[in-house]
Amino acid sequence: KVAVVWLRRDLRLFDNAALYHALNSGSQVLIMFIFDKNILDKLQDKKDKRVDFIYRQLEKINSELHQYNSSLLVYHNTPKKAFEELLSNFDVQEVFTNRDYEPYALERDREINDLLESKNIPFQTFKDQVIFERSEVMKPDGSPYTVFTPYSNKWKERLHQESIPEYPSESRLDHLLKRAKVALPSLENMGFEPSGFEVPDSDLSEGLIRNYEKTRNLPAVHGTSYASVHLRFGTVSIRRLVKQALQQNEIWLNELIWREFFMQILYHFPEVVEHNFRRKYDRIQWRNNEREFELWCRGETGYPMVDAGMRQLNETGWMHNRVRMITAGFLTKHLLIDWRWGEAYFAEKLVDYELSSNNGNWQWAAGTGCDSAPYFRIFNPETQLKKFDPKLEYVKTWIKDFRAGYLEPIVEHKFARARALEAYKKALNN
Ligand code: FAD
Repeated sequence: KVAVVWLRRDLRLFDNAALYHALNSGSQVLIMFIFDKNILDKLQDKKDKRVDFIYRQLEKINSELHQYNSSLLVYHNTPKKAFEELLSNFDVQEVFTNRDYEPYALERDREINDLLESKNIPFQTFKDQVIFERSEVMKPDGSPYTVFTPYSNKWKERLHQESIPEYPSESRLDHLLKRAKVALPSLENMGFEPSGFEVPDSDLSEGLIRNYEKTRNLPAVHGTSYASVHLRFGTVSIRRLVKQALQQNEIWLNELIWREFFMQILYHFPEVVEHNFRRKYDRIQWRNNEREFELWCRGETGYPMVDAGMRQLNETGWMHNRVRMITAGFLTKHLLIDWRWGEAYFAEKLVDYELSSNNGNWQWAAGTGCDSAPYFRIFNPETQLKKFDPKLEYVKTWIKDFRAGYLEPIVEHKFARARALEAYKKALNN
């Protein structure tokens, strides 16, 4: 009989809650991953950087498992079919996994839970990707927070009352099921190709974290942690990051809390996926000009900061946070294009794509979300450039042929600003 650990967005063998509990269950442990066809079949880009990143991480895990004479079990199927195959090939005692809170994941896990329940196999789930999940941080009246500052105060208050658990799964790997070496199915067999792109490691050095507020807004500087993709796929442990933040910089800790803030917003208000958090903004008359959208996607708006950002995204799958705010503000305000278009484009390109953070931040930029910037605060992309990239270092890195007489702006700032204010006011007064 085996205990199965189903890895999803927790691609590591250390400090992993579900793995730790499985290794302590008394059964031998088999680690499994499913390349989910429901997700993969929707991806357009055969060189998708995320699929490639996951693949390489699994290869690393597999070679670590080989050292324990074990091997990763990998399926390329829908989760339901993969589980049916698993159950016909192994005598499964229990299944362990870490909880995932996105709408699709909740539905998927319900389906698997039903399947396992019908065979009397327990499905054990654990909190792992966050410090506080679901309804753990709520207002005194029991309703969810929709404003960041009181949420973060409560989050910190709870943290000080409890200690952060540790799950030293790495010290118990001798309980893994012995299994002949098996190579992963190839990327090509699953319809993908290597992206040729190396996702940078996260930089959690003390110097960077301590100086975070001095460097965080300068896109030309290596001044943020690059932890986002690693948090997305669980190649780092949030518990370790939070412990470090508590010792070294509470301002950086706030960023990690923003991540959980938007996760709980999505959990309690799943309708934000389709709708404005503030429903009165449903009345905004977006212009949705397709040609302008195309120019924005390609980084050809004539505004250097916007264009550099979009080119960084297109090339690397990552964009600096300050520039994400500028490009998102430009699309929604200057071009009056529905934030959902921009959100979908980011979702396709970002290696750190996280539904909750992407949606929350897009709605923040559009002024339609919870705790968002007021709609009348409209970034001037030229002023932002002067402030945050005065020597044009960032711009010249991403716009290779940048010179003084750069592309003509597709819309004039003052005109666009007035047009946006008008459209928002009209929506609110209707
Ligand atoms: P750091 O500055 O070092 O921050 C550390 C961590 O804190 C990040 O890795 C991230 O997990 C979290 N964090 C930081 N800022 C935010 C924030 N504003 N909201 C939520 N969490 C935050 N982040 C994503 O992880 N996935 C997304 O899909 C995503 N889409 C975004 C879309 C827009 C329009 C904007 C404005 C921001 C978006 N962000 C998203 C938030 C932020 O830009 C990235 O988390 C950050 O740039 C990642 O770089 P880093 O890891 O070096 O961050």
